[in-house]
Amino acid sequence: MTEMMERPAESGTAGVKKVGFISLGCPKALVDSERILTQLRFEGYEVAPSYEDAHAVIVNTCGFITPAVEESLTAIGEALDATSKVIVTGCLGERPEKILERHPKVAAITGSEAVDDVMMHVRELLPIETDAFTGLLPVAAPGMRADAEQPVSLTDPNARHGDVLAPSVKLTPRHYAYVKIAEGCNHTCAFCIIPKLRGRQVSRDAGSVLYESFRLIAGGTKELMIISQDTSAYGVDIRYRESEFQGEQIRAHLTDLAVKLGEMGAWVRMHYVYPYPHVEKLVELMGQGKILPYLDVPLQHASPRILKLMRRPGAGRQLDTIRRWRELCPELVIRSTFIVGFPGETEEEFQELLTFLEEARLDRVGAFAYSDVEEADARALPGHVPEEIKQERLARFMEVAQRISTEKLAEKIGRVMDVIIDEFNDDEGDLPGTRLIGRTKGDAPGIDGQVYLYAGDFAGQVKIGDIVRARIEDSDEYDLFGEVLERPEWKPNVPQLGHFGKH
Ligand code: SF4
Repeated sequence: MTEMMERPAESGTAGVKKVGFISLGCPKALVDSERILTQLRFEGYEVAPSYEDAHAVIVNTCGFITPAVEESLTAIGEALDATSKVIVTGCLGERPEKILERHPKVAAITGSEAVDDVMMHVRELLPIETDAFTGLLPVAAPGMRADAEQPVSLTDPNARHGDVLAPSVKLTPRHYAYVKIAEGCNHTCAFCIIPKLRGRQVSRDAGSVLYESFRLIAGGTKELMIISQDTSAYGVDIRYRESEFQGEQIRAHLTDLAVKLGEMGAWVRMHYVYPYPHVEKLVELMGQGKILPYLDVPLQHASPRILKLMRRPGAGRQLDTIRRWRELCPELVIRSTFIVGFPGETEEEFQELLTFLEEARLDRVGAFAYSDVEEADARALPGHVPEEIKQERLARFMEVAQRISTEKLAEKIGRVMDVIIDEFNDDEGDLPGTRLIGRTKGDAPGIDGQVYLYAGDFAGQVKIGDIVRARIEDSDEYDLFGEVLERPEWKPNVPQLGHFGKH
């Protein structure tokens, strides 16, 4: 196997160098993967569809929690079974000793956000001979600096950390994209090692984010997921400095950014927003229909003592904040994640969390049983909760969350809602696009529920990425069911490149 993988690229591949790529972890890591893939293509490498076709493999790892570390180490092992030319990057790459302990034969290791270093190793392992003739030709489909007129390399020495370039290779479907507005984090949550792995927060300029978003929407993207470690803190590190977007100076502030993004006419979805006071302004924009009425707010707990032990940012008076948000935007869908069984959590404190859940009636909820992360400060806290109690609390928590989700979704029956179509769910013999799977404005891809639709009169007409109007006819714990009523024209305020059908 190894021999087959390590055959020189020249043998039967006419000099084409193929690189396999494995992308693990969160959407933030996905954006890093897109940047590396963009640069690979820019430099003339091909992306191999399988290990068997690859002359080298890049593994973009996750190091957030112990199971993610394990998954990353397993993926590295699988890549090494195929080739010795394995480059490891990403969060776990910040801890090379952990990788080398298990896999001493990896060819190279880099940390996260390290497009330059990864590319340097790729060039060393798989040099591409420059052809005297083709080397003079312009590169097709290059990476574009978000605000540049000319294609430039992603490894532009003038690009500062965080002000990274817009990837032109996307790992998501064309109709949605993740846009990373900052990297790193200034907090010190006791259970998290992200700041140790990724460093302090570095925000991108608003102009850079806006040009990237503009380009994505012009290329057919209809939904932007705004991500970072702490989206509410966007711009703090660069003192909200202004930058140019279409002749205007825009502050690197979340509200200003949201206003401008909203004007482009695509769906704009906010993730990892902590409940700081200025988030109210964002919710006002949601109430005015400028950005999606959706907030992904990782609350993690409701007991003040546990939140303090966790050292969570923006904690306190959570119920009041949520009530206020709902006044400002009654349509608001709130997604959150929680940790149960944090060290020291008593039964009373867990009950406090359940009561909060009942009162807050959050729309979408995810929960994890606390697990130790090497190097995280929470490991040293007293009163670790036995595993069976953690699991029992997680089951009780999920039971309540599921009941609330069922009740909230049932309230949507009879309503007409916008649904973005992600995939077809056709049975054999159906016209393509008869049964559809999509999401409402209240559902983010991959983490929230889905809407199963029957296309009815629109069978065969609806395309992936269309935004349709649908009547909701049924619901269960997590998903909705209904029928397409209308297929309105998609009209963003950004000129569209090329022809994308009706939408
Ligand atoms: S806010 Fe807390 S949990 Fe989130 S990345 Fe920063 S330290 Fe980690």
